[in-house]
Amino acid sequence: MYSDQINELFSAQLKEWKLARLNYSQLEKVRTRRFSFSTFEVLVQYNPERIRSSAAKVDSKSIGERPCFLCAKNRPHEQRGVNYENRLTILVNPFPIFSRHLTVPADLHTDQRIKSNFDTMLSLAEAMPLYTVFYNGPQCGASAPDHLHFQAGNLGFMPIEDDFRKGRHATLLASEQGIEIWIWKDYLRGIITLKGNNRKSLVRVFENFFNGFSKIQPDRPEPMLNIITGYSTKEWIIHLIPRKQHRPSHFFATGSDHLMVSPAAVDLGGVIITPREEDFKRITQNDIENIFQQVCFEENELTGLLNEII
Ligand SMILES: [Zn+2]
Repeated sequence: MYSDQINELFSAQLKEWKLARLNYSQLEKVRTRRFSFSTFEVLVQYNPERIRSSAAKVDSKSIGERPCFLCAKNRPHEQRGVNYENRLTILVNPFPIFSRHLTVPADLHTDQRIKSNFDTMLSLAEAMPLYTVFYNGPQCGASAPDHLHFQAGNLGFMPIEDDFRKGRHATLLASEQGIEIWIWKDYLRGIITLKGNNRKSLVRVFENFFNGFSKIQPDRPEPMLNIITGYSTKEWIIHLIPRKQHRPSHFFATGSDHLMVSPAAVDLGGVIITPREEDFKRITQNDIENIFQQVCFEENELTGLLNEII
């Protein structure tokens, strides 16, 4: 269990690292708007420190020209981490969305890819049951697409977690020993959820899904995807959120149509981050619906993919 070590890391870093201390204390005053859709809510968080991530240039030229901020040699000297199985390092994220927000980079500078690292994601979720672990694909919100990393935030912060438990939105599609496959309905986002305790089956089903999805997006470095995973009562709950687009048209619009919203796992998990106050004030229910529609698949569009998994 890494929980104690992570708690110690947090207390130590908040004492010795001024930037982290400041940003976590500011998070306590963060403003949030709540939008009620028929049976679920979406939150909008005004978080100016997230501008780095929302506005990040992730084209290969910009990435190639900057020192990688996830490589140990380039990290701030105050930043310390907890070693995870000599493969990953658990770090306090100094620009938090969650009251406990971690970044977990690989020790090696290697591309952000999930296929061969999905099993690692499951291990990590199991090792830190107080956290929800998430993955942003290289074209789906990762601000370091050249350095493999996961993130984690305190359990239950994203509405998607509770919405799944309430059982209102997801329908059980198939089940076999140790694994269930669920599909979401009436949620504005096409999502497939895997649940179970059989790690091998989960990995196999994920690989089937990934391979099927790769055929739909053959020109991408990997099919566009965000993943949100939690582990409790000895089983994993894994939300797979396939993507159509990195950023919605609002991001590129000029003038009053511009909204700096760059959706990643947390946004699609139900907490939209607006780094600019004007966007926080101006965003409407309609905008949220429209943003989801542009960047996610519609529920019925996932039917073909499901045939690949089952
Ligand atoms: Zn790196």
